[in-house]
Amino acid sequence: MIRRKLAAFMYGRYGSFGIDSLNMFLIAAGLILYIVGAVVRGRIASAVIFAVQTAAYVYLIFRFLSKNITARRKENDRFRALFSRVKGWFGLQKNRIRDRGKFVYKKCPECGAVLRLPYSKGEHTVRCPKCQNRFGVKNG
Ligand SMILES: [Zn+2]
Repeated sequence: MIRRKLAAFMYGRYGSFGIDSLNMFLIAAGLILYIVGAVVRGRIASAVIFAVQTAAYVYLIFRFLSKNITARRKENDRFRALFSRVKGWFGLQKNRIRDRGKFVYKKCPECGAVLRLPYSKGEHTVRCPKCQNRFGVKNG
């Protein structure tokens, strides 16, 4: 009885299609903030963490119960694009540390592509393999 009522209530709602990446992120963020909130001492910091956590859960519930499937899917796509960019940035920082002294990473001023170049002291001219633009690189 309750089960059937719940199924009828969830019919056509975004949550009935499963948990998407953004909802997964909101659940994880809420849990992490819960742990951080338990450790943090300051009253203002605790209040801010609690507010952000509440906002994450309200947004999660809103998305779960939403009937605007198209809008929620678009939201999720935007989130995934942003998340992969953030992940890419962290990956690049990791490689920069790993390659320190052996390779340098330079951004092409023309197309924005990040080039991994063998490190050698002095000034060099580099040709971007993506857009063929030539630009100067100076290694100290
Ligand atoms: Zn380029």
